[in-house]
Amino acid sequence: MVNICTSDDLQFDQTHLWHPYTSLTNPLPCYPVNSASGATLTLDDGRQLVDGMSSWWAAIHGYNHPQLNQALQQQAAQLSHVMFGGITHKPAVELARRLVAMTPAPLDAVFLADSGSVSVEVAIKMALQYQVSRQRSDKNMLLTVRGGYHGDTFAAMSVCDPVNGMHGLFQGVLPKHLFADAPTLTPHDRWDERDIDSLRTLLENNHNSLAAIILEPVVQGAGGMRFYHPTYLKRVRELCDQHDVLLICDEIATGFGRTGKLFACEHADVVPDIMCVGKALTGGYMTLAATIAQRHVAEQIGQGPGGGSLMHGPTFMGNPLACAVACASLDIIAEGHWQQQVAAISQQLERELARCNGLTAVNQVRVFGAIGVVELAEPLEMASTQAWLVEQGVWIRPFGRLLYIMPPYIIEPDQLRRLTDAMLALCQRLSS
Ligand SMILES: *Cc1c(COP(=O)(O)O)cnc(C)c1O
Repeated sequence: MVNICTSDDLQFDQTHLWHPYTSLTNPLPCYPVNSASGATLTLDDGRQLVDGMSSWWAAIHGYNHPQLNQALQQQAAQLSHVMFGGITHKPAVELARRLVAMTPAPLDAVFLADSGSVSVEVAIKMALQYQVSRQRSDKNMLLTVRGGYHGDTFAAMSVCDPVNGMHGLFQGVLPKHLFADAPTLTPHDRWDERDIDSLRTLLENNHNSLAAIILEPVVQGAGGMRFYHPTYLKRVRELCDQHDVLLICDEIATGFGRTGKLFACEHADVVPDIMCVGKALTGGYMTLAATIAQRHVAEQIGQGPGGGSLMHGPTFMGNPLACAVACASLDIIAEGHWQQQVAAISQQLERELARCNGLTAVNQVRVFGAIGVVELAEPLEMASTQAWLVEQGVWIRPFGRLLYIMPPYIIEPDQLRRLTDAMLALCQRLSS
């Protein structure tokens, strides 16, 4: 099998294969990628694209990384998979050790999940089981903020933004939770207590039926690429403590350095009761996520009905290949270069995306950590915009009115410049 898509293959793809959020009867074109290395994707026709997406926040160390390759190959030669029920193995134990060491101190009980959405499901289960085991099964609702995104499975969907969350279709069958107004103040604004009024009021009025608050710390990702004031998160933590409600921080997009701190909750010096990580956990090599709880949560669950078991256990839990690559990825993080890399990307983004300011097609430019966002006045036409961006030699995947990038940390300044040049050129085109 030659590893190149023929036109026949592409035709088959369009007819038989769903891609994320696409129609099978009205498919959008797809670009066949042949290989990837560093911050470069190579298409089947040989064209090279600078990657601005890190494959949705995941490939932080770049593609085809020697240490990650080696970890994967060595592990495959030894043990690719074994069930996790009644069995354990070094890669899983090592990964848990690293996660416990890296996350803020009180987080120390790890559940390995197979994807971000599943880790959110598990976090919600933890919160519900926690309340049940305290004889507080009446505390079974969640509170979140508008503009959030927590994944595509049903419990996760139920806490995504009810309007922009891409799941409006399912409103009728989703459990009803509470939505506070999204925070409006950005990290650059002066904090004003009024920003948290909506959440505070909902919490004060409903804490007796609330198991947990779930939110993305400081950066709302797929729900709108917005950055909010860290003091908001600080207040959420205080309010949770006051009202006996758990705090779940979904760090799936923000975890492992993307925002300039190892975890975004550190911007507010906040430790959640339960944290979800995923995406960059394996450096983008394969799917793996984790839900990490504070000891008091684990202990309370342990006193619950059914012998205190946490009622979740996917078939591929703790997959050794994924755990081994994750360990290698976290070892690269532990070397610490990400700090200078993310800071340098952030400064360059600030400088170069500022060129988009003032163009008529541009609503707002915002940068936080290694995330650069140009919010446009109008939604982009996807297929033609994507084709144009590929012609410019960049892989940027816009979304509605959002033209944004979160490149691999190892991107070179001239590669990043290609990305911001393409974003500027697109904005100029749209403005003329
Ligand atoms: C991507 C994402 C998820 C879902 O993760 P999947 O691996 O796609 O299931 C959940 N929460 C946040 C904040 C995310 O960015």
